[in-house]
Amino acid sequence: MLAEIITIGDELLIGQVIDTNSAFIAKHLNKIGVSVYQITSVQDDKEHILKALKDAETNVDIVILTGGLGPTKDDITKKTIAEYFNDTLVNDASVIENIEELWKHYTGGLLLQVNRDQALVPSKAKVLMNKLGTAPGMWMEKDDKVFISLPGVPYEMNALIEESVIPKLKEKYNCPYILHKTLLVYGIGESALAERIEAWEDALPKHIKLAYLPSLGVMRLRLSSKGFNVKEVKDGVQKEIDKVLPLIKDEFAGFEEEDGSVEIVIAKQLSNLGKTLATAESCTGGMIAGQFTTHPGASAYFKGGVVTYSTESKMNVLGVSKTDIDTFSVVSSQVVESMASNAMRLFQTDYAIATTGNAGPTKGDSEAEVGTVYIAIATKNGVYSQKFMLGNYRIKVIDKAVNKALEMLLK
Ligand code: ATP
Ligand code: MG
Repeated sequence: MLAEIITIGDELLIGQVIDTNSAFIAKHLNKIGVSVYQITSVQDDKEHILKALKDAETNVDIVILTGGLGPTKDDITKKTIAEYFNDTLVNDASVIENIEELWKHYTGGLLLQVNRDQALVPSKAKVLMNKLGTAPGMWMEKDDKVFISLPGVPYEMNALIEESVIPKLKEKYNCPYILHKTLLVYGIGESALAERIEAWEDALPKHIKLAYLPSLGVMRLRLSSKGFNVKEVKDGVQKEIDKVLPLIKDEFAGFEEEDGSVEIVIAKQLSNLGKTLATAESCTGGMIAGQFTTHPGASAYFKGGVVTYSTESKMNVLGVSKTDIDTFSVVSSQVVESMASNAMRLFQTDYAIATTGNAGPTKGDSEAEVGTVYIAIATKNGVYSQKFMLGNYRIKVIDKAVNKALEMLLK
């Protein structure tokens, strides 16, 4: 089964909004065995939308559109779809009811005619009720092909995909089971990894596909397979994982599907051990703390952190000694270790992690070369640090430093 995703909105084509809807939909389609043939973004323009619909209809079985369902004049998806299907717009009573209900809850104000008009849907469409917003989703069929139109607002679209679209597609089609397993691999570059696992990769059975997804300091190694026999697919992939894991046992952090990301792996380890963590950040500006606090339940192990960006704040807030700074420089192992130890004491945690470095583009408070970063981890048994040279591009240096810090915590 093949699908095309069409995202509609001028904002997507001028780079104002990044199209995250497609990625979300593609992920969910994949899970039920639907392959995405193409992703297209078009303007809020009737002719463009009509052309995209026509092209998609020749290529795929399932067309999913998002966006352009709002009450304003620039949102023209509904009218265009009605035209494409030679249909007219009619009022749907259940949608009016939903709109009135939402209005009571959220605004209490007068319901305008433009809002009532959101209950207009093509007469041939089945409504997918949007409990989070006033624009309903719509499901239409034509010659065995399915067209689904969803609101553009991501959380409304997400709910409709998970609660209506995916269950309905599963009911309609008998799709193969698709399995992706992604190994999170730390502390080894793409080429080195490829060389290490070359023999294993060459011997992979044809139906199992391997992809390398590198990003600063982290490598995601994805194994994919599909088939109608779920057990066979799962066993086939597991067999290969069992073979590759011994080759990367020091670098393997977890599985993206189960563990999410490396900070979640660390979070689980800390929670299981009943241990707590604090951060003292300079060049990473709070991003390490942010990695942990974006995930729910962080308060169980993450006690807090400080961003001590200037030299004075390292002394005044964290109590780093002026002598250390003058003797060794503010970007040094002595200073980063002192930051970590003092943070551990301040926050009364079992561990603390600290960063100091020079991300560039120019030399800052220290004489350290651009790209120099020191990271320290303090534990009850002592503190240790490592020096890294992370290049000369500021954003990359910072992102790499965050990943290196996570990698050190993991070990
Ligand atoms: P509503 O009636 O709820 O406004 P709508 O279908 O009219 O729904 P749009 O006006 O197209 O939605 O988009 C609303 C907002 O949703 C946009 O401002 C944008 O921030 C976001 N959005 C739209 N399409 C996408 C997309 N493909 N990826 C991520 N965000 C999107
Ligand atoms: Mg719009």
